[in-house]
Amino acid sequence: MITQEAAGWQQPDWQRQQADLITEPGALLELLGLEPADLPGHLAAAADFPLRVPRRYAALMEPGNPDDPLLRQVLSAPEELHDSPGFGQDPLDEAEHTAVPGLLHKYHGRALLVVTGACAVHCRYCFRRHFPYQTHLSGQRWQQALDWLAGRPDISEIILSGGDPLTLTNRRLAQLLEALAALPHLKRLRIHSRTPVVIPERLDDELLALLAAPRWQTTLVLHANHPREVSEALAARCRLWRNQGITLLNQSVLLAGVNDCTKTLCDLSETLFAAGVLPYYLHLLDRVKGAAHFIVTDDRARILHWQLRGRLPGYLVPRLTREEPGEDAKTVIAG
Ligand code: SF4
Repeated sequence: MITQEAAGWQQPDWQRQQADLITEPGALLELLGLEPADLPGHLAAAADFPLRVPRRYAALMEPGNPDDPLLRQVLSAPEELHDSPGFGQDPLDEAEHTAVPGLLHKYHGRALLVVTGACAVHCRYCFRRHFPYQTHLSGQRWQQALDWLAGRPDISEIILSGGDPLTLTNRRLAQLLEALAALPHLKRLRIHSRTPVVIPERLDDELLALLAAPRWQTTLVLHANHPREVSEALAARCRLWRNQGITLLNQSVLLAGVNDCTKTLCDLSETLFAAGVLPYYLHLLDRVKGAAHFIVTDDRARILHWQLRGRLPGYLVPRLTREEPGEDAKTVIAG
């Protein structure tokens, strides 16, 4: 396949957007017409997990609203610097599940490839915000993981994760998929990505052709947390992708001040479904250092979920889950 990059005459729109991010808290606040009230606090919190916001995503925020739920997900906040008991650097004990660098094996029949440390956006609640990407992505990159997979015929599903796998170019993804396709026991391909939520143009035709290939049963799991994140631009691409046979799911994180509200969660499920995406999981927050101000208590989460069940058909109610280190599967709090 001749990719746009290989043709060398035009950088795809999504790559231009990914190269033109807002990286200064003051610049983001100014763009939204907000006073940088506690800018030193925001700057200090961004020191080891920098701000990273595509302009396309910032355009979905409400100007003049310091409590905008989209802004809250990406603006570094002074609270991140507070120490909170029980919140650590590796909340899911992923170091324990590293089969070889770059490959995590937690659950039966599935393995997860950390294909990059890069993301199009930095989410302040990210459970991998302290992940040691440098130890996973150095040296031979994917080869060790491919060798490990070759010796594991019990693995039938490969999950591409990161970072965000869709920050890679189509050419890089094509190389990886070609290598994975040579392992006949891999049947299902799953990609977890938030990039299309913040840059919908990432779901381009070239990528679609790659992922809709008959070799794979492909599932794209989007990470949208708020109905306003499902823009019409994203919805149009999702409908197209679904019509080409890609299974589309969404998983959200329940976040205080973002989506801990029955109406917001109902709207999110309905908006996703209208775009051809099934709401799949609603995760309780992973207890990562720096994200304690996003926590929603289990009791409150159960109430919200119960209210969702009272308002939506069952297929629009995501399962409320938590990932517990050492468990064989996610723990379903309410189904
Ligand atoms: S896009 Fe995903 S991996 Fe990247 S910072 Fe956000 S939650 Fe974390």
